[in-house]
Amino acid sequence: VVVVVFLVGSLLSIVGQHKAPGHAAAVSLQLQSLQMNSTISVDPESLDRASTDFGMLARAVPAAVLRPSSDRDIAALVEFSYSSARPFSVAARGHGHSVRGQALAADGVVVEMASLRGGGGGGERIRVCRELGYVDAGGEELWIDVLEETMKHGLAPRSWTDYLYLTVGGTLSNAGLSGQSFLYGPQISNVYQLDVVTGTGQIVTCSEKQEPDLFFAVLGGLGQFGIITRARIAIEPAPAMVVRWIRLIYADFRAFTSDQERLISLEEKEKMKGFNYVEGSVIMASNLTYNWRSSFYAQEDTSRISGLAAQYGAVYCLEAAMYYDYSTAPSINQEVELLLKDLNFIPGFQFKNDVTYMHFLNRVREGELKLHSRGLWDVPHPWLNILVPSSRILDFDQGVFKTILKQNNNSVGPILIYATNRSKWDQRMSAVVPDEQVFYSVGLLRSGTVDDWKYLEEQNKEILRFCDEAAMSYKQYLPHYTNKADWMKHFGHKWDLFVERKMRYDPKALLSPGQRIFVSSF
Ligand code: FAD
Repeated sequence: VVVVVFLVGSLLSIVGQHKAPGHAAAVSLQLQSLQMNSTISVDPESLDRASTDFGMLARAVPAAVLRPSSDRDIAALVEFSYSSARPFSVAARGHGHSVRGQALAADGVVVEMASLRGGGGGGERIRVCRELGYVDAGGEELWIDVLEETMKHGLAPRSWTDYLYLTVGGTLSNAGLSGQSFLYGPQISNVYQLDVVTGTGQIVTCSEKQEPDLFFAVLGGLGQFGIITRARIAIEPAPAMVVRWIRLIYADFRAFTSDQERLISLEEKEKMKGFNYVEGSVIMASNLTYNWRSSFYAQEDTSRISGLAAQYGAVYCLEAAMYYDYSTAPSINQEVELLLKDLNFIPGFQFKNDVTYMHFLNRVREGELKLHSRGLWDVPHPWLNILVPSSRILDFDQGVFKTILKQNNNSVGPILIYATNRSKWDQRMSAVVPDEQVFYSVGLLRSGTVDDWKYLEEQNKEILRFCDEAAMSYKQYLPHYTNKADWMKHFGHKWDLFVERKMRYDPKALLSPGQRIFVSSF
């Protein structure tokens, strides 16, 4: 009998406490009867590692950790739970880079997808098909490894995240956004086919033509409908040898956003070749250094920009990139100048670097390693990501950047803000976005210290309150809600379909319980 109950209550109080005592012990006892080649661990170290994530804000201890050696073993585990008189929840853990416990499973089983990585369980896990223009990658694979493998063939996926140490299954469960999304859509718009283990333990291959309902459910589906074990991803000739990477500084927010919106519509509206990548960020005196996007500037430029940020309170940085190779090299200066000449950044505040394509895509890594070495990476990350319709972005600037953040901006971490095109999102997918042709991805990617991060959470709440009161029709990205009404509002007209699909593909609500959308009655 299917019973799906909606969760109520607050995140930190509910995690790990909604199961009857002894449930974890019962689960680990049951698992002993499961015959498979994979490892099931219940040692404290394995459980501890699977109990938290990059955010370091949530904690939930699983009963066991499965290190699968094949997708068949993942299917066997899920099927076992589904058929059991005492079912347990199952969460795929990609790289554990969620920030609010989305890949945790209190008293359930965490599937550490990493054990499949690089063919750990035998067989090739990243396979390039040059002729048909795709790469098959295991759901557990890191995007950096997909890039390195495809580059051996002179090919590469076309849509990225800023950071490549994330898994294919993890980003496809959300969307996968970056400065290429305006052109190609998010990563979920660049997938041809998936292999999925559903919540009943079936392995299903799906695509736009074959089992389309499951295919679109899983894309942006927050892990609710199945565990992705393989994705067929579009690739194209690796665009270039070199990337002209530029940053332009603005004091005026209106100029900053209207330039972004022009740049992302050049091809469609003006039939003109534009940049291959467009992003933006907010620079406050406190977040220019010690942040994983800071490796771009020379030391003297950092000082000049800091001075400007101190003078204005905050300045804005438009970041763009154009790919080129030896054949187009002679005209690159002209092409870029043509694009820059009508932009309204502060004269003299134009910076450029020429880097390899690989360096550009993997640009965050350098910053990450620097933060690691200073002990600033493994710290709490109360991140907030929201998608704001372009018609409200000036109000957002006024209310958030110029008011709420101005009052207390001593945090570290980047604040991203870049425009993207809704037309590149297939509305059949589970992912939800604002109902406007252009919307902004805003990421407040700030970190605190182990003892002091709660004020950032308070600020996040204040920001969301401001957006609600101003009726901004925004959507959270990597959403986090703790009650049914908020999830219904989040999914809007897609909610009924989301629930229907849940009933169809995971009727006992076993999968990804850490998203806190559904809780099963067991
Ligand atoms: P996890 O955190 O392990 O899992 C995320 C969710 O997906 C969980 O619910 C989990 O159960 C489920 N899941 C994991 N694997 C699978 C699978 N194979 N099948 C089905 N469900 C699965 N996002 C962007 O879009 N753009 C960015 O530029 C970007 N930059 C980032 C930079 C950093 C430093 C960090 C930490 C995160 C960034 N993110 C970005 C967010 C990232 O996309 C999410 O954290 C995402 O969840 C991927 O992380 P992961 O692979 O570790 O997945």
